[in-house]
Amino acid sequence: MAGTLTLRVITPTRIVLDEPVESVRIPVLDGSLGVLPRHAPMVAALGAGLLHYKSNGVEKVLFVSEGFADVRDNVMRVVTEACEPSTDIDEKRARAAEARARERLAQRGKGMTGEQAIDALRAEAALRRALMRLKVFEYGSRERVRT
Ligand code: ATP
Repeated sequence: MAGTLTLRVITPTRIVLDEPVESVRIPVLDGSLGVLPRHAPMVAALGAGLLHYKSNGVEKVLFVSEGFADVRDNVMRVVTEACEPSTDIDEKRARAAEARARERLAQRGKGMTGEQAIDALRAEAALRRALMRLKVFEYGSRERVRT
């Protein structure tokens, strides 16, 4: 057993988590990145997705939005726009956000202006957040059924 590292998850409004954990997997722009205790110092850009961590032998999942992570002195800091455990996710709201984003993307046409292209990128990011929230929500529902 390699011990623990401290996982600190921070949003603009609160500290979501600050505790020793056995392992962490964060969503990055091109996949995911696993971190174990005594990891070398690093920084990474966070993509919206699922943050998995193991605490006292139990696997847990959080939704995290865009942001960054760093590791130093056996502390991993995850600084993100928004973060929710499955129990805090409002499924209806996420489904509505998904529908809105899909509607905006469906209106995308050829020969977009710069502004329209930026709107489309925003809609893609909003769609990703909504889908990832729904994934975490479903993950939590499965866990609740099992326990
Ligand atoms: P929406 O369009 O529904 O606001 P969004 O993806 O634009 O979704 P964010 O900018 O990621 O929302 O988050 C804004 C705030 O709302 C954050 O505090 C976040 O925790 C909260 N939030 C967003 N969607 C949900 C949700 N489905 N359930 C619970 N909290 C949410």
